[in-house]
Amino acid sequence: MTLSDEPHPVSNSSPSATVDGLAKRIDALLPQTQCRQCGYAGCRPYAEAIACGEADINQCPPGGTAGIAALATLLGCEPKPLNPQHGVEQPLHLAVIDEPKCIGCTLCIQACPVDAIIGAAKLMHTVIAAECTGCRLCIPPCPVDCIVMVPAPPEQLAQPDHWRRRHEARHLRLNREQQQKTERAERQKAALQRPGAEEIARAIERARARKQAMATTGSSGTSSIKTPHSEDSSDA
Ligand code: SF4
Ligand code: SF4
Ligand code: SF4
Repeated sequence: MTLSDEPHPVSNSSPSATVDGLAKRIDALLPQTQCRQCGYAGCRPYAEAIACGEADINQCPPGGTAGIAALATLLGCEPKPLNPQHGVEQPLHLAVIDEPKCIGCTLCIQACPVDAIIGAAKLMHTVIAAECTGCRLCIPPCPVDCIVMVPAPPEQLAQPDHWRRRHEARHLRLNREQQQKTERAERQKAALQRPGAEEIARAIERARARKQAMATTGSSGTSSIKTPHSEDSSDA
């Protein structure tokens, strides 16, 4: 039986509310590593796809056999083996950065779904081991291959609820930053539309070009200025 063949549990509420409620319950059973091995952009999108009957229950390697069994029970269907096209079940691993090799490009930070990497442009980066889900999404973007996966220490356990919260917090942060960027661009556009703004912008551009030229030549910009006194001296 596949989810595409079988209808999901239904209720009398509206179809979208039913699917949303079911997606929430499915999501609660998923490991929350946000690794994308299921073929979706994270655990919640995979949960929604299962709820809609678009995805099967055996596409999540981190959840493995136990995860599939839990989904089968929830959905009232038969469990099935993990689909090997999506990977294999493995114990928790953590990312480690070979810090002396890191060139500080920040690409791993941008890829990490739970903000488990800290660093700044052109500075060494490091993984906060306690926050790493082992998703491996930071590895492909690294241009110098300085990130490796190592087995997590036995005392470090999966923490799905915590990882879900961190993933949601990251989404909120990215949305906030995007919103601030849009507002900044709108303010700049509005400023350019004010009367006289174009002339001010041209003046600023001229000043900037002059400053750049002076920096290039090393000139202070005052050597050619003549004073009445200097003219008198040259006439003498
Ligand atoms: S843990 Fe990975 S494979 Fe499993 S549902 Fe979440 S994103 Fe998909
Ligand atoms: S540090 Fe790497 S492996 Fe760990 S959560 Fe972030 S992207 Fe995933
Ligand atoms: S992607 Fe690699 S090189 Fe770039 S900041 Fe991360 S660890 Fe350093």
